[in-house]
Amino acid sequence: MNIGTAWKPTPNDDLDPPLLAGVELGGTKIIFTLGTGPDAIIESDRISTSEAEPTLIAIEDILDRWLQSHPSIAAIGLASFGPLELDPAAPDYGSITRTTKPGWSNTDIACRIRGRYKLPLAIDTDVNGAALAEGRWGAARGLRSWAYITIGTGVGAGIVVDKSPVRGLGHSEAGHMIVRRAPDDGFAGICPFHGDCIEGLVSGPAIAARAGVKGEHIPDDDPLWASVSATIAGLIHNLAMTTAPERIILGGGVIERRPSLFSPIRQAVVNSLAAYAHTPAIAQNIDTFIVPPALGEMAGPLGALALASDAASARPLAVEPE
Ligand code: ZN
Repeated sequence: MNIGTAWKPTPNDDLDPPLLAGVELGGTKIIFTLGTGPDAIIESDRISTSEAEPTLIAIEDILDRWLQSHPSIAAIGLASFGPLELDPAAPDYGSITRTTKPGWSNTDIACRIRGRYKLPLAIDTDVNGAALAEGRWGAARGLRSWAYITIGTGVGAGIVVDKSPVRGLGHSEAGHMIVRRAPDDGFAGICPFHGDCIEGLVSGPAIAARAGVKGEHIPDDDPLWASVSATIAGLIHNLAMTTAPERIILGGGVIERRPSLFSPIRQAVVNSLAAYAHTPAIAQNIDTFIVPPALGEMAGPLGALALASDAASARPLAVEPE
């Protein structure tokens, strides 16, 4: 879906919103977005993710250029792959901690960028950013609690409760939950930590490992999709039973390339919840309970912009310059 045609401004939006710079740090590419919102992106750029230090220098080169040409930039948002340290009291706040990505463990991002530009800055995970963007501009507008799930190279979930991403000792890693297996699913899973956690069963690489070919070459009627749907439904069942989201936004490359999965996932969720507690309302509205991202592939880049917007308006996620 193209956000340029999908999004429409609302009358309640600020008449003169601040200019924001967003940086989405992904494992393979980094996407830069300059603007005030989805309908007003004035510049964008992208670079490949390489080793940590040259990548950070390349990020600073682009931000330097943007700050020179647009001195009115009010805030910076960083939406990054993780794991991230997001406890503001931690000495390494805003750093990537122990990651499987070579050379990136213990890499400070937020303090470095904040120190260089002295602008309000917010950092969060890429999935939390995407969840917040969907809340601000997309499929979760007007809701208080929702979740954004991405099924792609990895599996992640940005879980928002009362308009704030869930926080605790770390950030949510719901993609590594373990759910009941489909009865005939004997695949061992590929997560290096947990084997058959959700990511180990249904990420793009996991699906390719099941089939021996990339997911796009697997036909729609291959029985492995039933196992994949059941596992994703298990994740949604557990989210519905924990934080009681009003809506689940389901995206990521695997889902974008296989929209036919929505139907069996919805049916499996209805069956699994079995009309318990608050879930009859889910069953009655399953087509609007589990939905694709309204922002499409822009959910990630706009997530960084949503974080910048939070920083500009000094919401709780923001970190003020020292
Ligand atoms: Zn795992």
